[in-house]
Amino acid sequence: MTLDELKAVASKMSLPGYAARQIAYWLYRKRVRIIDEMSNIAANKRQQLSDYYETGLFPPTGKEISTDGTIKYLYSVNNGNNFIESVYIPAKKRATLCVSSQAGCKMNCLFCMTGKQGFAAQLTASEMLNQIPFVLDNNELTNIVFMGMGEPLDNIDELFKVLEILTSDYGYGWSPKRITVSTIGILPGLKRFLDESHCHLAISLHSPRHEERLSLMPIEKVYPADSIIDLLHKYDFSHQRRVSFEYILFEGLNDTLHHATELARLIKGLKCRVNLIRYHAIEGVNLRCCSEKKTEKFQAALHASGIRATVRVSRGEDVFAACGMLSQIKK
Ligand code: SF4
Repeated sequence: MTLDELKAVASKMSLPGYAARQIAYWLYRKRVRIIDEMSNIAANKRQQLSDYYETGLFPPTGKEISTDGTIKYLYSVNNGNNFIESVYIPAKKRATLCVSSQAGCKMNCLFCMTGKQGFAAQLTASEMLNQIPFVLDNNELTNIVFMGMGEPLDNIDELFKVLEILTSDYGYGWSPKRITVSTIGILPGLKRFLDESHCHLAISLHSPRHEERLSLMPIEKVYPADSIIDLLHKYDFSHQRRVSFEYILFEGLNDTLHHATELARLIKGLKCRVNLIRYHAIEGVNLRCCSEKKTEKFQAALHASGIRATVRVSRGEDVFAACGMLSQIKK
């Protein structure tokens, strides 16, 4: 719950107005699992609160550890009817948690196992937030990325509650610079995100060509890449907020130097970065991973066109935790 929602609870329970902040403190700073631990709330009120509410904090039901240190967590959601995964990725100077926003996904991107799974349920703000405390209590955490299962902007109201709680002084108190929301570019949601949030943005692009992107991502039919870029041009990314483009390189499909030139032309004039990502093969999908040599050439071509490009290190593939591999269908 946001502070406004907690204030409504406090009022309903005839608690003083300041109790909303006290409850937020116990929920988001102390991360207590049961309401009775909120020791500065009167005992009879704690009982009353417990009769109607719960903290929504519960531990993962499973975890798998990769040989590279990546940890994949499994959580039960939607009253135990579905499962979601989140991935903790420790590195030298940062530790990132990749959070899910939906159980499954409606968007059906060709290269993604979550897309193959189909859509099961929207996550509540509570179910999104619940992916963080257990990890935070046991590990360092510097960044959160909404790049797990689901399209965050397809669950935008709940996402916005989570972003508010993460970045508010009454909540986690994190800087928005530590949070990135990744989207395939649902335009109305993207506009709202750009207007109302200061968090970083990542756009899944994967091809500068309309037909080709359409063959990979059905959303291109509704919100083509050039309309996304047009919208981005209306915003200023020269200060703290960053925009990056995600580009999975597929052998023989979108990995030529012509693609690099077209990509550079498409995003020209935007202060941005391109993340080149290795494709993790999915059974039954006729796509192949691009070689390291070609990836380097593609990166060099982008650099030559004045575009900053990095190659994302693949993590957690052995436990199906790498990019595009999260799913609850049998692997
Ligand atoms: S890539 Fe993202 S938007 Fe596309 S199917 Fe997978 S989870 Fe959904």
